[in-house]
Amino acid sequence: MKKVQQHPFAEILITWYKGHARDLPWRRTNDPYIIWLSEIILQQTRIAQGLPYFYKLSEAFPTVFDLAAADETTLFRLWQGLGYYSRARNLHKTAKNIAENHAGKFPNTYSDLIKLPGIGPYTAAAIASFAFGEASPVVDGNVFRILARYFGIETDILHASARKEFTALAKELIPAADPARFNQAIMEFGSLQCSPAPDCATCPLLATCFAYQQDRISLLPVKSKSKPQRIRHFQYFVIEQDGKFLVHQRRGKDIWQGLWEFFCIESVDLNNTLNLYPFLSPLMEHATILKAPAIHVLSHQKIVSAAWLIQLPKEFRMEMPADYHWILSSKFEQLGKPVLLLNLITDNIVLKELLEG
Ligand code: SF4
Repeated sequence: MKKVQQHPFAEILITWYKGHARDLPWRRTNDPYIIWLSEIILQQTRIAQGLPYFYKLSEAFPTVFDLAAADETTLFRLWQGLGYYSRARNLHKTAKNIAENHAGKFPNTYSDLIKLPGIGPYTAAAIASFAFGEASPVVDGNVFRILARYFGIETDILHASARKEFTALAKELIPAADPARFNQAIMEFGSLQCSPAPDCATCPLLATCFAYQQDRISLLPVKSKSKPQRIRHFQYFVIEQDGKFLVHQRRGKDIWQGLWEFFCIESVDLNNTLNLYPFLSPLMEHATILKAPAIHVLSHQKIVSAAWLIQLPKEFRMEMPADYHWILSSKFEQLGKPVLLLNLITDNIVLKELLEG
C-alpha cells in the first residue's frame, strides 16, 4: 500500500472539485437540518432522482419542527417512488427526537451527532463537516472505491474492520483547514471521475494511482460476493365494488412497511394461490387479467408479480379478509404505495381510469 504522505491527494482533489462541482441546493447552505435531509434522501439514490424529492420535502417541511409535526401518510405520499421507506420512517423519528428533546437543534460535533438514533457515521460526518466545519471524514461506497484504488488497499470492503481502516486513512487525508470541501470533493470525485467505470484518462491522480499503474482497476475495491437475491412471488387482486377498493397497509418487518396495496397473496410461486384463500374462488368469475407475471427488482430481492382485476356486482357479498378495508379510489390516491403498484396503475389504462373514477 502506498504511503499517504507521498502525494498531495487532498490538494489535487480539492482543485479538481473547484472545476467540476455541480451546483446543488444543499451545498449552498450550512443549515444542519437541510444537510441532514439531503443526506437521507441521497442514500442509495442518484442525485438526479433525489433532487425533485429534496425540493418537495424541503418545501413541505422547511424546518425540523415542520417535519416532526407531519403525519406519516403525508410524508409517505411525498416520499412515494423513492424506495427504501425505512429511511422515511427513520427521518420522521429522528426529526421528532430533535424537535422534542433537543429544542430543534442538531448537536454540533460528530461525537454527539452519532449518539442520535437514526444518524449513522456517514451522516454524522457529513453534518459535522458541512454545517460545523469539523474535520470528520465521510466514508461511503465512493470513498471506499477511491481510496482502495488510489492507495492499493486490498481489504474486503464488506469486512467488519474495513470501515475502521478506511476512516483512519481518510482522517489522515482530510485537511483541518477545509474539511467540508474535502468531503464534498471526494464524494463528487467518486460519482463523476472515479466511478465504478472510472474516467482514468482525464484523472488528475492518474500518475500516482496504484490501481491505474498496476492495472488493477477492475479488482479494486475488493468486495466479497454478497448473498444471492431472494426471489418472492406476489399475486395481486384489485378487488373493486361500487367504486371502492379492497386495500391494506403492509406491517411487520418487511419491505414496504407502512405502504398501502391491493389484496395480495405471497406464495412460493404464482400457481394455485387461490387455494390459500378459498373466499377468492367464487370471486374469480368476475376476474380479468391485469398484468402477466413480471419481475420487479429491489436491492436485495426480486419480486415476481402478476395482477387480476375483480369487479364485483353491488349485491355480491364476500367474506372480508383480516386487516383489509374498502376505500374510495380518491382516498387510495392519497396513500403511499410501493413503486411496483404505481407502475401497475400507470401502465394499465383500465385500472388507471377506474381509479380516477
Ligand atoms: S486513475 Fe482511475 S482509478 Fe485511479 S483515481 Fe483516477 S479515476 Fe480512479
